[in-house]
Amino acid sequence: MSQPPVDDLDMLFAFAEEPVGERRAGGAEGWRVLIVDDDADVHRATELALRDVIVEGRQLVFEHAFDSAQAYALLQTHPDTAVMMLDVVMESENAGLELVHRVREELGRQELRIILRTGQPGYAPELETIRRYDINDYKTKAELTRVRLYTSLTVAVRSYRQLHRLEATRRGLEAIIDAGIDLGRLDTIQRFAQGVVMQLCALFDVPPEGLVCAASGHHGRHVVAAAGGYSEYIGKPIDALPDATIRDAIERAFAERRSRSGAGHALYFPVGSIDGVVAYVDVPHDPARLDARLLEVFVMNITAGFDKLMLHQRITDLAYLDMLSKLPNRNAMLRWIAERGEGERVVAFVDIDDFAHINSILDQAFGDQVLLAVASRIERLFGDRARVARIGADVFGILGPPDVVHAAAIDAIFDSAFDVGGFRLRLSASSGFAHCRRDEPGGDHPLRDAAVAAKRAKALSRGSSVYHDAAQAAAARERMLLLSELRDAFDAGCLALAYQPVFELGSGAIVGVEALLRWQRADGSWVPPALFIPLAEESGLIVDIGDWVLRTALAELDGLRALAGPRFGMAINISPAQFREPDFVQRLDAAIRQAGVGHAGVEIELTESMAIENLSFIVDVLAKVRALGVSVAIDDFGTGYSSLSLIRQLPFDRLKIDRSFVNDMASDRSIVELITNLARVLGVRTIAEGIETAEQLATLRELGCDCGQGYLVSPALPADALRAFLHARRAASAATPTALELGQGQYDER
Ligand code: C2E
Ligand code: MG
Ligand code: MG
Repeated sequence: MSQPPVDDLDMLFAFAEEPVGERRAGGAEGWRVLIVDDDADVHRATELALRDVIVEGRQLVFEHAFDSAQAYALLQTHPDTAVMMLDVVMESENAGLELVHRVREELGRQELRIILRTGQPGYAPELETIRRYDINDYKTKAELTRVRLYTSLTVAVRSYRQLHRLEATRRGLEAIIDAGIDLGRLDTIQRFAQGVVMQLCALFDVPPEGLVCAASGHHGRHVVAAAGGYSEYIGKPIDALPDATIRDAIERAFAERRSRSGAGHALYFPVGSIDGVVAYVDVPHDPARLDARLLEVFVMNITAGFDKLMLHQRITDLAYLDMLSKLPNRNAMLRWIAERGEGERVVAFVDIDDFAHINSILDQAFGDQVLLAVASRIERLFGDRARVARIGADVFGILGPPDVVHAAAIDAIFDSAFDVGGFRLRLSASSGFAHCRRDEPGGDHPLRDAAVAAKRAKALSRGSSVYHDAAQAAAARERMLLLSELRDAFDAGCLALAYQPVFELGSGAIVGVEALLRWQRADGSWVPPALFIPLAEESGLIVDIGDWVLRTALAELDGLRALAGPRFGMAINISPAQFREPDFVQRLDAAIRQAGVGHAGVEIELTESMAIENLSFIVDVLAKVRALGVSVAIDDFGTGYSSLSLIRQLPFDRLKIDRSFVNDMASDRSIVELITNLARVLGVRTIAEGIETAEQLATLRELGCDCGQGYLVSPALPADALRAFLHARRAASAATPTALELGQGQYDER
């Protein structure tokens, strides 16, 4: 290749004086030009001819390949090669053309400009090839003077640049459209912002180098996402950025609420719910060179994207975040359970003991601080080994593998005292655990199971843990169903009372009845009181039912007295829940007055176990009841755990000897003897339950027991049957000296 003439050289320098671009973005050294030729001289000559040439403000960077395989490899490692000057004939006659084919088809390098050179004009490729493979120029080596070479290369570089920008713009547009579509899938601002950085870099045609900042209430102005060298500043405040120019550019864009260009571009996105978002791109060229409309559309689109995302985030926060602790809430826990992956998981339901007490004794603000202290300790202890949520006022949920979420791990939370507002507070929690099993997919069942287990733990003692047990859970469900059936039955008036006659042991006289609740289902089956009464007690339903029993039994009493004499007694069982109602005495009084039967002869039956707790309250209420003239019996006496000293303090009228002791008398009469003696000492009467045999009756008489009831005389009877029974007794007593009259006097004294 010959040296170019002098005038050509001048021209070369004229080109060289074209204004050189401003500071380049990191790493872009110049236009990469690949020379492919099997002749080393051609390499040298070309490089010599084009040395120091500046095109479009950038130098040329040469790469050299001596056969097509080398060239192919170089193009693979340098996707930014702008121009390839290619010898057609190398290792084979068509080596150059075959390389072109592979570069376009296999590498998909459509932007690469190709200048074909050949030593022998006879080997000129067909026009078809030139068209098909988008070849820029085709010259014989002889034709390529220095100036021609230069011109040809310059055109190729410009054309490369144009194509490249078109491609970047296309990618930018694609990115913008994708941003809109992707939004629903991007779940965090960070990821969206990261996308914005990438898109901006593509748009500006620079390597991924830049950052995005958001101003948010909590964290101040901080880096939300970044690319390239700035990645290490993600999550840090803007002040942490090392480059003052960049910090300034970002701060000013925030302050002026608009995009600014200087050394780089700070794009301002007026995101409504926060102070805006600024994306800074470290690229010097004038954005005017970029299609201004495109940039505008980009900013609008991204702003809308951020807006939607913030809204989405807020809604998600509200739905899935506990506002006090900033921990995820119950919804989040349910979602985790539903979305859990492979592997066994345990969910713990951790219910702080006596929290209501803390809240009421101290105040709610203090209670909040306690919860925060517990929340932060749980988070610290479990870290990322388990997921923690606040799933109720004083309840935390923990989901994780069985070796992380277990009773000892929960105990560890409460091992040491909590420092809250200057107090050292010891806390405990009742916790329930349930396995999330593969065969029970989705839903909130494990959480519910854990909650049920925690409830059982609470009933055991403070600080206990219970694992969910499927059989127990089934029983609990059964009870729930029965309770709801009971509610319906009560509302529908399907409960009834039966009355068991009470007789005086000495005379056999019927002196009263005990009212006993009965529940007959629509299908005719009976539900035993021992089954449904405890349920009604636990649920509190017994208070309403008990009221109804009182009124119904007392309403019956008047009619019974007409039949059996004015002092005929009515004993009514009262459950602890009913008795503890603050207005129990008033209700009792009102029911008696409403029935118009007078207080005398009315007796309430209470179990001794209820007196164990809160003795003074019970003594007080019992005194009021007796002051009304209503008598008090201690039911099932001997089966509870009350002490003699407690019994001595209770004001009551009768001890009711439990059926089990009466039943045992054939083998051992000592207990009944003990009770009758005790009653004598205390100056109260006795009544025996469950007298089924004449022997039992004889023994009880012998022991001086006053009254009794049992199948020997009569089971509990419906009201009609009872009246018939009393009739029959009266008729019989008219025939023989009867017990009925004799008995009446005995039932009222105390
Ligand atoms: P309780 O007050 O000790 O009632 C005596 C229980 O013994 C009754 O059972 C009665 O039917 C049964 N019984 C009476 N005589 C005999 C006998 O000779 N042999 C046998 N094997 N059993 C006899 P019931 O009616 O099943 O009542 C069970 C418990 O349910 C009662 O025990 C009482 O604690 C409770 N209860 C019944 N009605 C009411 C009510 O209206 N309110 C409240 N709070 N509890 C009630
Ligand atoms: Mg009773
Ligand atoms: Mg009893």
